Amino acid sequence: MKSSIRELVPEYIRSLAQYVPGRPIEEVERELGMIAIKLASNENPLGPSPRAVEAVRRAIVDSNRYPDGSGQYVREALAARWELPVENFLLGAGSTELIDLVARALLDHGDEGLTSEGSFPLYYTAIQAAGAKVVKTRLKDYAFDFEALTRAVTPRTKVIYLANPNNPTGTMFTGDVFAQFLDRVREDVVVVLDEAYYEYVQHPGYPRSIELLKRKPNLMVLRTFSKAHGLAGLRIGYGMGPAELIEEINKFRSPFNTSNVAQAAALAALEDVGHVKRSVANNQAGLDQLKRGFQELDIQFVPSFGNFVFVELGEHARRICHDLLHRGVITRPMGWMGFPNAIRVSVGRPKENEMCLRELAELLKGAEHYAPLPKQVVR
Ligand SMILES: *Cc1c(COP(=O)(O)O)cnc(C)c1O
Repeated sequence: MKSSIRELVPEYIRSLAQYVPGRPIEEVERELGMIAIKLASNENPLGPSPRAVEAVRRAIVDSNRYPDGSGQYVREALAARWELPVENFLLGAGSTELIDLVARALLDHGDEGLTSEGSFPLYYTAIQAAGAKVVKTRLKDYAFDFEALTRAVTPRTKVIYLANPNNPTGTMFTGDVFAQFLDRVREDVVVVLDEAYYEYVQHPGYPRSIELLKRKPNLMVLRTFSKAHGLAGLRIGYGMGPAELIEEINKFRSPFNTSNVAQAAALAALEDVGHVKRSVANNQAGLDQLKRGFQELDIQFVPSFGNFVFVELGEHARRICHDLLHRGVITRPMGWMGFPNAIRVSVGRPKENEMCLRELAELLKGAEHYAPLPKQVVR
């Protein structure tokens, strides 16, 4: 007989690293007895679309009924928006569920899933939880290294995960670089392009992934309503990709993985172009504000294409993150993601960014207990 229940669990599950979420604002406020601001989870600081909130109110009265399991209306609306056939769309409880479902559909024991160090931790979890081997290349200047990725593909590679922009570093790769990479990858390897921050990117060279989908049978693009649409709490995201893969996933995914409420909210949010526009404008202004602030403080950061900034603070990063929290500013320590000297700051509303910069300045100025910050850590 097995000596403990834990031993019933396969080693590749037991050895998984726990995902470390940002601290919930209510929990921090209760603990500190003060008002806090949360700049830790790349959420939309403007809130959800008011039209989505109204749609939720209307939908919730039907909550005794099971939802439409395939999310037909949402998928049709997405198909119309992106001008692709509806059978190429799949909904998930956030795009993180889709990261997992793709891995489970494709990977068998002995197979390999490829991605980079310093990227979204749920890629590693998904690959390993499917019983496969996680292969990671290094980041180069905080970004995906496509030369290294190309070299790391083996006959056992079945899936490659890429985040664009990358979380947590905020870097972006262009359409030229990505198309070239796709042309060098075998067509029996599925490339998952995670575009969680798609709406925020203003760069003209950002990949036109919908165009690529039309000529690449092995591309899967993931997007979400959690970020620019402000619906992180409702858990709904979508994938666009090979109909054959989606059909297989539909056989084993939870049949009601998105709720009626989430579907109603997503439909309304998709229509509310104004809210996304305002969110993107707030984000652009916030990125500029944080950039200026960090420069004034002589703090090194990575220029970001998302709604967050990766900030190098040196050896005391963890301590600074902790002290910021005790001053009511929740940011994300990056040690658990492999960057012990960095924190990630999500873009907030102007007042929130200002408070973050002010508290950070005070900490760095008045803090004799910190050794001086090493300068020029990056770039
Ligand atoms: C936030 C994020 C997601 C989306 O998460 P949801 O499950 O849709 O809330 C996916 N990928 C990356 C890289 C992210 O940062």
